[in-house]
Amino acid sequence: MRFHSTVLAARIFFLSLGVALLWGALPVAATPPGPPAEEQLFQETCELYLHEVVDQKQRRTRISEQALNDPQAIACNGYVCGVELFSARGDLKIALDGRPFEVAPAGPERYRYTLFPKIRGDALCAGDGFDIQIQTATARRDLTIRHQGARLLSPDRQPADSLDAPPVFRLLGQSPERFRARGRDLTERLAAVAEGIGYVEKRFGARLVEHVDILDVGAGDNALTLRGRHQIWFYAETIWGESIPELRVMAEHEALHLAVDEIGLTERTAIRALFAELSGYDPLSLERFALVTSGRLNAHANRPASAASPLLAFIDERNYFPGMTGGHAADNLDEFCTSLLHALLYADRLEANLQRRLASEVKAQITRDLARTLDLFAEEIADLGTRHSPPQPLNHAAADLFRSAAQMINRPSPVVLDDSVPTAATPSDL
Ligand SMILES: [Zn+2]
Repeated sequence: MRFHSTVLAARIFFLSLGVALLWGALPVAATPPGPPAEEQLFQETCELYLHEVVDQKQRRTRISEQALNDPQAIACNGYVCGVELFSARGDLKIALDGRPFEVAPAGPERYRYTLFPKIRGDALCAGDGFDIQIQTATARRDLTIRHQGARLLSPDRQPADSLDAPPVFRLLGQSPERFRARGRDLTERLAAVAEGIGYVEKRFGARLVEHVDILDVGAGDNALTLRGRHQIWFYAETIWGESIPELRVMAEHEALHLAVDEIGLTERTAIRALFAELSGYDPLSLERFALVTSGRLNAHANRPASAASPLLAFIDERNYFPGMTGGHAADNLDEFCTSLLHALLYADRLEANLQRRLASEVKAQITRDLARTLDLFAEEIADLGTRHSPPQPLNHAAADLFRSAAQMINRPSPVVLDDSVPTAATPSDL
C-alpha cells in the first residue's frame, strides 16, 4: 500500500513540475532548446546494472555511462540473468522484449526497476540479444544488449510435433564443448532425461516438453518447471550429480508437473479441499480456507491440527522406485497431484507397496484414503473433460489412469504383482 501511495505522490509531483515548466517555458520562445527528450531520459536513467553469469558464477556489473552512450550494443561475456535500473523518476515504463519491470522505492527520490527470471539463474532471454525499452509518456529509449544465449546440446527437434522426437536440450553458461568434457557419460544422462519425458508424453498422448535448459551456474541443485511453459530446467549440478536412473525419474516427475497444470487439477476446489484434509488441517481452520481458495499456504502457516494421512508419504517416488530419494507429496498441492499421477503411472506397484507397510491400521487408512482420492480425481477430470470439445487426449488418458487404478484398489482380493515382496496371496491371485 505504501508503495502505491509513494508512486502516486511522485506522479503528482512530476505532473505539477511538468505543468510549471511548460507554463514558464511558453512565453520564452528565445530560450535555446535543451537536449532532446529522448536523450534527457537516457541521462536520467543511466544507472544500469546487469546480473550476469560468467564461468558458472553470478556477478553484478554496472554499465558505465560511456557504454550507455555508445551507439553500439552493450556486450556481455556471459548471459544476463537479471537487470536492475535506478532512476529519480518513478513514472518510467521499462520492459525487456515486452516483459515489464517491477518498480519499488529505493530511497528519497530514487526508484529501483528490476526484472529477474522466475527460475533463479535462468537467462532473461535464450537468444543472443535483447532490447530494453525505457519510456515515459513523451520519450522512449531502447538499449540493445548482446549476451551469450542458450547453446544447443542436441539437434533441433525434427519433426517438431512427433511424440517420438526427444526434447531439445540447451545449455546456458558454458560452451557445449567444455560442458561435454566434464564427463564422458553426458549422452547417457541426457538420454535418461529424454526417456523420462518421452515415457510420460506417450502415456498421456500429448506433447508436454519442448525444451530442457541446463543452467551451468552454482544457483541450485534441482529440476524445475513453470506453469504455462513447455520446458524443464535442470541445474548442471543435478545433471552431473544424480544417478542416471534418478535423472529419468526426475524428468518424469517434472513432465508430470506440466501434465497436472495442463489438466487443471490444482484449480479444482474439491481437490484442494481433499489435500487440506489429507494434510491434517481442521475443516474450520484458516489454513484450510487458504488452501481451498488460493491453492496454497503462506510461508508462516500453522502446522496442521492432526497428523497427515499416510497416503501422502505412500505416493512419494522413493516408495515406487528402488534406490530413489525423491518425493515430497506433502509439501504442497502441486506436489501432491504430481506424485499421485506418478504413482498411478506405476499402478501395478500399488499393492506391493501397500504390503510393505507393517501396521494393518496404516494399510487400512492408505487404502481408504487412496480409494476416495482416486474416485474424486476421476470425477473432477471427467468434469474438466466436458469443457473441451473435442476432449483433450491428456484428460482422456488421465481419466483412464484414475479409473483403472480405482478398479485395482477396490478389488476385494487385490492382485500382488511384485513377487519380490512376500505376501499371503494364493497362486490363483497371481
Ligand atoms: Zn515436484
